[in-house]
Amino acid sequence: MVRAIVGANWGDEGKGKITDMLAKESDIVIRFQGGSNAGHTIINHYGKFALHLLPSGVFYRHTTSIIGNGVALNIPYLLNEIQELEKEGVPTPKVLVSDRAQLLMPYHILLDTYEEARLAGKSFGSTKSGIAPFYSDKYAKIGFQVSELFGDEKELREKVARVCEMKNVLFEHLYHQPGLKPEEVYQTLIFYREMVRPYVCDVSAYLYEALRAGKNILLEGQLGSLKDPDHGIYPMVTSSSTLAAYGAIGAGIPPYEIKQITAVVKAYSSSVGAGAFVSEIFGDEADELRKRGGDGGEFGATTGRPRRMGWFDAVATRYGCRIQGATEVVLTVVDVLGYLDELPICVGYEIDGLVSSDFPTTAQLEKAKPVYERLPGWKCEIRGIRKYEELPENCRRYIERIEELIGVPISMVSNGPGRDEIIYR
Ligand code: GDP
Repeated sequence: MVRAIVGANWGDEGKGKITDMLAKESDIVIRFQGGSNAGHTIINHYGKFALHLLPSGVFYRHTTSIIGNGVALNIPYLLNEIQELEKEGVPTPKVLVSDRAQLLMPYHILLDTYEEARLAGKSFGSTKSGIAPFYSDKYAKIGFQVSELFGDEKELREKVARVCEMKNVLFEHLYHQPGLKPEEVYQTLIFYREMVRPYVCDVSAYLYEALRAGKNILLEGQLGSLKDPDHGIYPMVTSSSTLAAYGAIGAGIPPYEIKQITAVVKAYSSSVGAGAFVSEIFGDEADELRKRGGDGGEFGATTGRPRRMGWFDAVATRYGCRIQGATEVVLTVVDVLGYLDELPICVGYEIDGLVSSDFPTTAQLEKAKPVYERLPGWKCEIRGIRKYEELPENCRRYIERIEELIGVPISMVSNGPGRDEIIYR
């Protein structure tokens, strides 16, 4: 059985915690898209960890952690992350890397950094991890697949020379920076080959057998629906699909094997990077929510930068769940909201004088103003509660109103960052 755990908002919904929690019952956890550009924060009995590339199932001895072909594979980053876990006393995880994954190269990071600087005020707010240049190269067919490292060396050298020739036009003439040296790029690839060698696997074949043997498989998404390049707020999106459907491609399994799509939804909104954010709040109101949010503030797990904050957006979330094909929702960080007298929920967008509850394309979205409904707060701490009926009435009203608005059953409510802080309904 395959279950996808994906974000229905802008990312940072708490997918890491939910994956870590559900990995207990799983044999295999797979990252199928994205790279080290976003982080998952996980708190369990080993401590607090910010994972960027490894799947959030790495803390169990019984799970196999897979980097699927859809991932932007930064090899030194991956190995460093494994070492960091070992240093903290986590048993060495069993990691497999798809032989069809492509390599994120140091020059992708340089290109990302130079481009953000060139765009200055109009930048995308990239984490400068090289993700956009990486995926551009993949689809331009000038990326390096893991399998190529183990192929013909002469061919590899020739390809390196070709790629450098193209890249150097940008380096020298657009960014006015020193060009790449083919020999150095080639040596980097050889260095990466030896680093990745112990992990390389024909992942889709491995998963085919695992499915036949009835194994439980989790697909772990990065970011969320609204950052998807097709269905999100283009162009302020990420460069790989954040949708559960892409899990089939980015892992190499048949689409019909994904039986459960668990969309993680945050009880308020937060976003990193640029782009329209209709229910965004500012000033003291935002600072207060940012300070109380998550497990010690809403600051990026990769960059440390403050996240943009907003009230719950039912328009964006219903769309986010629909586009994921969510079969259930986990509503997270509900505990954070106990300080509010009143909880605004964005139930419509007003665009050119008309109110709609449909999520529009970006040009329309830029003009949208939020229409709020307000529910009374519950004004108390709900951490520690394990039974849904024991939640304060106003808290249940908030959850049930959200459920009604998004049209997907909320099967779990997360009321704290820890593994066990979860209420099943
Ligand atoms: P991800 O990228 O979707 O995994 O999300 P992040 O890890 O970036 O952000 C979620 C943050 O919220 C992390 O710091 C989690 O530890 C924390 N978190 C997750 N669920 C809850 C919850 O129910 N309550 C609180 N207070 N924090 C939570």
